[in-house]
Amino acid sequence: MRLYLLSGAGLSAPSGLATFRDGGLWDRYDVVEVCSIQGYRRDPHRVHRFYDERRQELGQVRPNRAHYYLAKLEERFDVVHLTQNVDDLLERAGAQSLIHLHGELTKLRCLECGHSFSIGYLSQEGKSCPGCGSCKVRPDVIFFGESAPNYRYLYTIEADLFIAIGTSGRVIDIADIAQHYPRSILIDPVRHKRVTMFGEFDCYIDEYFTHFIQADICEALEELELLLQREAGGAGDFMD
Ligand SMILES: [Zn+2]
Repeated sequence: MRLYLLSGAGLSAPSGLATFRDGGLWDRYDVVEVCSIQGYRRDPHRVHRFYDERRQELGQVRPNRAHYYLAKLEERFDVVHLTQNVDDLLERAGAQSLIHLHGELTKLRCLECGHSFSIGYLSQEGKSCPGCGSCKVRPDVIFFGESAPNYRYLYTIEADLFIAIGTSGRVIDIADIAQHYPRSILIDPVRHKRVTMFGEFDCYIDEYFTHFIQADICEALEELELLLQREAGGAGDFMD
């Protein structure tokens, strides 16, 4: 069975990482300023400081049991995992079939030659490109106002089951993606109205999925496991 996983901030929040929405970093920073290409052009040092702080924070937290559970699914199923998260907690839990949609916090990118390289949890202060030696380097993350090349994968993954985890659907229209797959599971503690560039729809995102687990990801794992066992065994009706 092929699984298509799409994860967002709700997966890493239980590890203690501040989230960008829902009362996290939005309250402490002008996030539009420090996470946008316009803000970066206006004051790159401020943006570097912001990401230095995020990297340091990431070095102090650990993967939670949901990261480990999702990473282990790769041993049982054919998995493609797209994540909106820029942290490396899934990798640290052992995930290998992972594609970062919004870049990676532990990496810098050279503005001269485009080379991307890892700096772990260090500050980017004084770092230069190991490829060409240039000091013109930036966080290897996608800023607001930039295109995200890996979005090309969103609609091209062949799978029997689509699972959306901890993503509010406000950046990526997961309701639309769910309709492309015969089976789908949404895990989210909150019901969100579907919102697209055309405005707010008069329906909830969960209505587009064949199954909805209304819980934090760490509390949803037992139910998810039961659903996967049922689906993999081909026994019983997957839909409740
Ligand atoms: Zn370079």
